[in-house]
Amino acid sequence: MTRRGMRRCALAVAAGLLAGCSAGGSGSDKDDEREPGSASSSEAAPAPSTPTDTGGESAPAGTPALNERTEPDLLLALSAPVEDSVYPAVGGPDVDALLYDLDLSWDPTKRSLTGTSTITFRAARDAKKFGLDFSPFLEVESLTLDGQEAAYTHRGKNLVVTAPIVTDDRHELVVSYAGKPRPVPAPTTRRDFSTVGFTVTDRGEVWTMQEPYGAYSWYPVNDQPADKALYDISVTVPEPWTGVANGRFVGDTTEDGRRTTEFQLDEPAASYLVTLAIGDYAHAAQTSKSGVTLDYWYPRGQPLVVDAMRAGGAAIDWIESRLGPYPFSSAGIVATDSQSAMETQTLVTIGNNEYVREPEVIVHELVHQWYGDQVSPADWSDVWLNEGMTMLMQGLWEADHDGAKISATTDSWRGIDQQLRDEYGPPGAYDPTQFAGSNVYYSPALMWNELRLELGDDQFFAIARSWLTANDNRSVTRDDIYEHWEKETGLELSAFFDAWILGTTTPAPGV
Ligand SMILES: [Zn+2]
Repeated sequence: MTRRGMRRCALAVAAGLLAGCSAGGSGSDKDDEREPGSASSSEAAPAPSTPTDTGGESAPAGTPALNERTEPDLLLALSAPVEDSVYPAVGGPDVDALLYDLDLSWDPTKRSLTGTSTITFRAARDAKKFGLDFSPFLEVESLTLDGQEAAYTHRGKNLVVTAPIVTDDRHELVVSYAGKPRPVPAPTTRRDFSTVGFTVTDRGEVWTMQEPYGAYSWYPVNDQPADKALYDISVTVPEPWTGVANGRFVGDTTEDGRRTTEFQLDEPAASYLVTLAIGDYAHAAQTSKSGVTLDYWYPRGQPLVVDAMRAGGAAIDWIESRLGPYPFSSAGIVATDSQSAMETQTLVTIGNNEYVREPEVIVHELVHQWYGDQVSPADWSDVWLNEGMTMLMQGLWEADHDGAKISATTDSWRGIDQQLRDEYGPPGAYDPTQFAGSNVYYSPALMWNELRLELGDDQFFAIARSWLTANDNRSVTRDDIYEHWEKETGLELSAFFDAWILGTTTPAPGV
């Protein structure tokens, strides 16, 4: 998730004055544009200007086929679900979801969602019954387990299936449902979001930003970061609208005035990284110099938005030069009516206001594709694993592009670190009602910067990359990353890490 640029508005952030803070940011390399004209687009974007443009295809790039899921695919999604230490009421340790096959239909006039969710899962432990999270505003119409009707209860947000499961057995749960979804209160006082999950605009458009949870507002799910799964998502909406979701755009079909779009996510994602957006979308595309194609979905008639998205191609190149190749088989950005921005996997979700259209916000969410999405925290006490490295990368990017010195940026972070610890708690032991406070951004960013200064950029980024390749598609803990850095540097770092992540006072400079 994004955070206002500290260099320009350290005091505003520290004081919680997020809405009043303007984060400028001049120059991204908006070096390649093109007009795609997708099935859903009749509108022209700026003309092609470089060889990296993708030309005038009629649909987003990608393999135009819905691949049958194979056993090796499903094995990619093996996880070790837990009871979360910060938000134990959401998610659970029974089910290791491997694949969510979501077949969704949205009526923007009635504001009603109908869906069938086919969940392939591994029993993660022996149990007489097992549970998933599922909105109380959606009614289960039928439920089968391995093809047989199964008994269940649905009280509050707890969907409990009364059937015994044995560790490592594989099952298929099919839930058909309908209703009028509502978002979920967010455990934060941040001004850029107060609810999470399925959100409907006045015009019946839909978006979902759902960190740390809230996926359960629109499908039955083990809604915790420790349980990554694959997704096949199909969305049916009235023409000319389009439903957009994570993964490769597989294709679309139209029947009786309704369009169905299909998306397939080739790498497992935690539920908080899943996104759904429905509206009158146009499509554009851009290819980075390294060959990563980004699909841009933007509200038709809003060229400013797609213009902002075009910071993405150069951002990918800049990030790859430090963190290694882009980790997924598809990439893109979708714009919604939110006030925030979120690193939803393979398809960043941005709001539509002056701040979230800034290039450093695009950079921030794309960095998360490596730090946050490719490798994710297994528990919400470690959200700093996502935001710390990403904030440092954002600071370095701003230094490269705006001419500011990174030392000035980190000095400004250090200047407010104590205040953040006092207000929100240490980054690794924060107040649960203050999810994603500024403490999980700037304090760990400072910590990583101390290591960067100690090791030099070459060794620092070599280890930052080897961490990602060693933990591809995994959900990890702080102990995992401490061990990795100690092993790779040969340094004893536990006191250093503990002071930054758990300390109540700002550590002194140095490692
Ligand atoms: Zn972030």
